[in-house]
Amino acid sequence: MPQTDLPRSGPLQTLEFRIDATQPATRELRVCAIITSPEDGDVELFLPTWTPGSYLIREYSRHLSRVEAFEAGTEQPLPCLKVGKNRFRVEAPGDTRIELRYRVYAHELSVRTADVDSCHAYWNHCCVLLWPIEQTDLPADITIEHLKDWSLSCSLAATPARANALGCVASTLRARDLAEALDSPVLIGSTKRLEWQVHGVPHAIVLDGLGTVAPPPSLTTDLTKIVEQAASVFGDSLPYEQYVFLALFADEGYGGLEHSDSSTLLMPRTALTSKAKYRDFLTLAAHELFHAWNVKRMRPVEFWNYDYEQENYTKLLWLMEGWTAYYDDLLVTRAGLMSPTDYLATMAKNVQNMLSAPGRFALSLEESSFDAWIRLYRPDENTRNSSQNYYGNGAVAAMCLDLTIRRTTGGKYSIDDALHSLYRSTFDAGRGYELADVHAAIEAIAGAEVVEKLTEFVMGPLDPQLAELLADVGVKLTFRDAGKPFLGVAFRANTTTIASVTKGSPADDAGIAPDDEVIAANNLRVKPGNWQTLLAAVGEVAEPMQLLVARRGIMQTLTVIPTSGMGTAKLVVDAEASDEQCAARNAWLGEPSESQG
Ligand SMILES: [Zn+2]
Repeated sequence: MPQTDLPRSGPLQTLEFRIDATQPATRELRVCAIITSPEDGDVELFLPTWTPGSYLIREYSRHLSRVEAFEAGTEQPLPCLKVGKNRFRVEAPGDTRIELRYRVYAHELSVRTADVDSCHAYWNHCCVLLWPIEQTDLPADITIEHLKDWSLSCSLAATPARANALGCVASTLRARDLAEALDSPVLIGSTKRLEWQVHGVPHAIVLDGLGTVAPPPSLTTDLTKIVEQAASVFGDSLPYEQYVFLALFADEGYGGLEHSDSSTLLMPRTALTSKAKYRDFLTLAAHELFHAWNVKRMRPVEFWNYDYEQENYTKLLWLMEGWTAYYDDLLVTRAGLMSPTDYLATMAKNVQNMLSAPGRFALSLEESSFDAWIRLYRPDENTRNSSQNYYGNGAVAAMCLDLTIRRTTGGKYSIDDALHSLYRSTFDAGRGYELADVHAAIEAIAGAEVVEKLTEFVMGPLDPQLAELLADVGVKLTFRDAGKPFLGVAFRANTTTIASVTKGSPADDAGIAPDDEVIAANNLRVKPGNWQTLLAAVGEVAEPMQLLVARRGIMQTLTVIPTSGMGTAKLVVDAEASDEQCAARNAWLGEPSESQG
């Protein structure tokens, strides 16, 4: 994005924030908010408790300290009371210019938080800006001071960096209101910026924390292809005036967060040096980019105006996240950056996770969406039995819906058409969508019976006719190692302690429970890492096995009877598929390029 002069402020008052990031070694941002009290005096300010896109209350206000108020430009203190976990009230006469000073501790490197150290400064304004509760529509000028060797990246319009007296530089960002400010994270550091255009729209990726790792030479051309594929779902048009990927690299960690005109990606830096991990990076970028349409613009009516202080409930995360998770791998495949074989292997993992976890019979995709705040972000040993993941299972449900639309319309329409139509009828019309709008978009292209299928997928137990649907596109669902002895236990990494027990499995029937330490199977010692070998050696389907376990320190012998295992799901191209099936597959995944084989 070229840096431009800010537009002049209109008749409205403008909030002012000054963020001092010039002492990154302190891990603190020093913030000053300049606000004018309303006519009747006193002003109440709040800090968000969560970041849109990540549905868990995270209580960012625990990182605030030394919140003090003064008459602006003086050291004359004003009473500043904490009136809620994330709220402060400044007592002042009407129309008083108030300077609120505070510090933000910033030591959490994730896409949704704030992290400041000697190498970089990254933050979401959700963690940083105390905003007057009555003034969420006001524009804000956010002036950021930082080290002069660092450069600042943010999707907000910015003034050119200007030097200050202390040998640092300052830039001012302009947000048109609270929502835009909170939707625009800031990255400052010795970053590398690469730029390109798609359909005449400027795009950039800012790479932070790469160390001595060099970005792949094809990075911008690969991202160009992905952006083109995403745009093609929505009539070859881009919804933003510019877009920037903020890519944070570290030793470890993984995550992405979507914004309207930017996204943050977090990956291990070595991801760029292996073919498979680089593909994961591209998939993550595709996922967050796709959210520029699905979630950041087209979104449920209940998310049209966020409440940044408490849980915002929706039953539609299976569409917001599930469909996006379906498209991320699909866009990379259609862009020719993942082979159909690799695409099917990736989707097979989702299928395996879905089939092997009975939670899909306990809680529908709709209910799992609604419960995101208390389940998905707070997994425990029983999650696989009690809930389903609206990302992975949502992606499988989206694939089934897509294949159903293709089947019903003889390949004339797909889920692409349903999404584009939903986008036009709701976001383009200036409103959020409801389930009825989703139904209308599908019914218009594929009829009421496909709407019924969708209802089956998202409101009932998720148990689609996968093999039958995949056969339409010349893909076979098979199971590796089917029929081997199955118990239904998973161990904690590098231990012999049970992490989870699948409900209804032989282990569950035998009374084996999470936290049990397995000492021996049929009198043979179980050690970390030897379980599979041991089970293969002594386990037999329908033959009772003795497991010696320690439960709360007391030994017990339990009898478990293995059943015949489902095996591991595999999706493979059917070599005997008809021309019609192959054509349907190519229409779905894109024509494979020669290099992909
Ligand atoms: Zn997402």
